[in-house]
Amino acid sequence: MRMVLLGAPGSGKGTQGEKLVGHYGIPKISTGDALRAAVAAGTELGRKAKATMDAGQLVADDIVIGIVEERLGQPDARKGFVLDGFPRNTAQAQVLDTMLQRLGQPAVDKVVHLAVADEEIIKRLLERARKEGRADDKEDVIRRRIEVYNAETHPLLDYYRAQNKVVTVDGVGELETVFDRIVKALG
Ligand code: AMP
Repeated sequence: MRMVLLGAPGSGKGTQGEKLVGHYGIPKISTGDALRAAVAAGTELGRKAKATMDAGQLVADDIVIGIVEERLGQPDARKGFVLDGFPRNTAQAQVLDTMLQRLGQPAVDKVVHLAVADEEIIKRLLERARKEGRADDKEDVIRRRIEVYNAETHPLLDYYRAQNKVVTVDGVGELETVFDRIVKALG
């Protein structure tokens, strides 16, 4: 199974992605996690990305594309993967398609769209800010990230709908309930 998780920040992609890893026995590739690790480790890539991330904007395509290409090339990703947070715009989606071809891998099978209303997203992210203190979970940055999602990432649904790959799942509810919906929708 090769799948992309698509949804606003705070829609549950990370959490549901972890559960899908266990269920399907495939790795999760999260560009956000990789970038946060690079920032924490103080690598050059992390230094380049930090200010952009803290502002709630998207980091340059070439940075995230490099991360994904490196990870997809590893042996454990050959049997499938869950992409969390990539692609984030149509240009990245096109690059992903050609990257999989170049790596000799089949195309993405399914795009799981976790649907959660903006007001619920803001509520969840403010709560996460209190609990985890992520640098980009401040209210003004949260609003910016939702704007960026609606402007750049949401249109990706049309890109994948044209390929008949989108399954939309109600992302509001208990963790297990949402997970069951996803697995059922994937068939
Ligand atoms: P996330 O944890 O997926 O919400 O990502 C946190 C931040 O990392 C985002 O707000 C962006 O600044 C950056 N980021 C993660 N994935 C991407 C991507 N595919 N393209 C551009 N920026 C990204």
